[in-house]
Amino acid sequence: MTELWDAIIIGAGPAGASAAYFLGEMGLRAVVLEREALPRDKPCGGAVPRSALARFPFGFEPVIEDAVTLVRYAWLGEERPVALPDAPVVMVRRREFDAHILAHARAEVRDRTAVAEALADGDAVRVRTADGATLAGHYLLIAEGSTGVLARALGLASHRAHVPTLQADVPMERATGDWRGTALFQFGALPGGYMWVFPRRGSLSVGIVDFRRGRRPLRGALEAEMARLGIAAEGIRWRGHPLPVFAGRRALGRGRILLLGDAAGLVDPLLGEGIRYAIRSGQVAADVARRNLSAAEYTRRIAREMGRSLQRAREIAGLFYRFPWLAYSIATQDGRGTQWMTDVLAERSDYVGISRRLPGLVAGYLVSREGRRETR
Ligand SMILES: Cc1cc2nc3c(=O)[nH]c(=O)nc-3n(C[C@H](O)[C@H](O)[C@H](O)COP(=O)(O)OP(=O)(O)OC[C@H]3O[C@@H](n4cnc5c(N)ncnc54)[C@H](O)[C@@H]3O)c2cc1C
Repeated sequence: MTELWDAIIIGAGPAGASAAYFLGEMGLRAVVLEREALPRDKPCGGAVPRSALARFPFGFEPVIEDAVTLVRYAWLGEERPVALPDAPVVMVRRREFDAHILAHARAEVRDRTAVAEALADGDAVRVRTADGATLAGHYLLIAEGSTGVLARALGLASHRAHVPTLQADVPMERATGDWRGTALFQFGALPGGYMWVFPRRGSLSVGIVDFRRGRRPLRGALEAEMARLGIAAEGIRWRGHPLPVFAGRRALGRGRILLLGDAAGLVDPLLGEGIRYAIRSGQVAADVARRNLSAAEYTRRIAREMGRSLQRAREIAGLFYRFPWLAYSIATQDGRGTQWMTDVLAERSDYVGISRRLPGLVAGYLVSREGRRETR
């Protein structure tokens, strides 16, 4: 017998869990199908701007492990620290964070349930699970992350570019110094990316991302930087995971099939931030389902709210990682670069706003360099 739902959601990450939460609040019947046993972990830095949490009426205190009050930008040995008194970004563990959102959702959740096939069938959508069950719904929300295959099977996944990452949770006792409240972005280890160190309770998220997909092995670059920072790397089990960064605006679905979060390539190509976009896409998808709108309208709303900004981020990232030393010097010459990034994370501005102000930042850098030369 085929079950009928208002919405079938594939994947219980932040995108799927948020869609489930908002659909439930709207009184729609949703089922979440997740292939892993829940709660599940996911390779991630776990840095979440508070603006993303503010989308929900419930608190996140039980799953917040730290808050960032100091950012250390570094280029190999050189460092430029910037204080963040408002602590706009918190640190979470994905196992607990994703489960926390889902625990508030009035939706049916079925874990260890992989979806093997999805298709549109007249006015309905249908899925078949790996154990042979079939479900039908008015909407299908594909929130399968970067490793899912269903969007591709439907011919819907060509708008994201997978870039490599490597990440591990490193026990705090392996690091020297006090990392509480401190996030480090280390540039220069790779020409096309950065290494990060983010604080959690009792451990550090240490990882590296290469946005330009260069040839340099990530592990060697990462461990060399760890040695410089005084973090012992011996015996750590690194996990690689593709990061599906935004690669241009495309249709985010068809009919009543919608792509959310990583499955839609909604990841910032400059920073690698994706959780905030995943949550918002879940909220927008729920609203689209409530109003009985189409994937075309969903695509338009996502383009308006984040696509234009992500497209600008893509252009800025193209320049930044092509001329990383120059870009690093310009971005960290004074507190403005950090203030702008904080504005983006807090949703007071976006990359369209930043790109308008960039020429001023570059001009300021050139003038101050010229000034330094003249006083020599
Ligand atoms: C190393 C690394 C570090 C990162 N650090 C940060 C960070 O610090 N801050 C930030 O904002 N973003 C970060 N990101 C990005 C962030 O992790 C993603 O953007 C976010 O997880 C997207 O959420 P999602 O719900 O779209 O997908 P996911 O969280 O990947 O969830 C997808 C779910 O779908 C399930 N699934 C897949 N296929 C099927 C199927 N056929 N049937 C049933 N279930 C299925 C999967 O098991 C999974 O649970 C990082 C990414 C990486 C790789």
